[in-house]
Amino acid sequence: MATYVQPAKGTVVFLDRDGVINAKRADHVKAWQEFRFLPGALEALRLLTEQRCALFIVTNQAVINRGLVAQQTVEAIHRRMLAVIEGEGGRITAVRFCPHRPDEACPCRKPRPGMLQRLVAEYQIDPFAAYMVGDALSDIAAGHAVGCRTILVQTDADVGVAQRGATEQHQQPDRVVASLLEAAHWIRHQSH
Ligand SMILES: [Mg+2]
Ligand SMILES: [Zn+2]
Repeated sequence: MATYVQPAKGTVVFLDRDGVINAKRADHVKAWQEFRFLPGALEALRLLTEQRCALFIVTNQAVINRGLVAQQTVEAIHRRMLAVIEGEGGRITAVRFCPHRPDEACPCRKPRPGMLQRLVAEYQIDPFAAYMVGDALSDIAAGHAVGCRTILVQTDADVGVAQRGATEQHQQPDRVVASLLEAAHWIRHQSH
């Protein structure tokens, strides 16, 4: 089962999907036709790739176990997403999704750090030199749980409300930005 993978080289960036790379939908992204890249996201992924970052997408997709979207459909959406990203000069090392509902209490649904921990082990990542970029406080909490620096992308009003409610230390992002593109620029400045 364990397949050998090359250790990740360069700065590692964990990326949430919905609200960071593509626009969130109240009724969820259920098909490729509903997937819309956010402004600047493709450019950001290209810039990070050019900076030799190793990029990983970690996304909660409870729609799968809620029976709203088939796992194969989510995987097909990801294949098409990756094709577009690569066509624009970006490269994603791996995409991981959690299919579980909150009531399943799995170890991988963010804010739990299971997806990050597995990637850290598989790719021999130094989490303290890595970044987690997300639009929800659950992303920030997952990143902090493994020792990452965290960046909150504020793309809609919901997150502003959630952020004001963030009083606990582990929910405070290291940086707040308006887009993944802004996050990419900040990451570049940190590593210089
Ligand atoms: Mg999100
Ligand atoms: Zn899970």
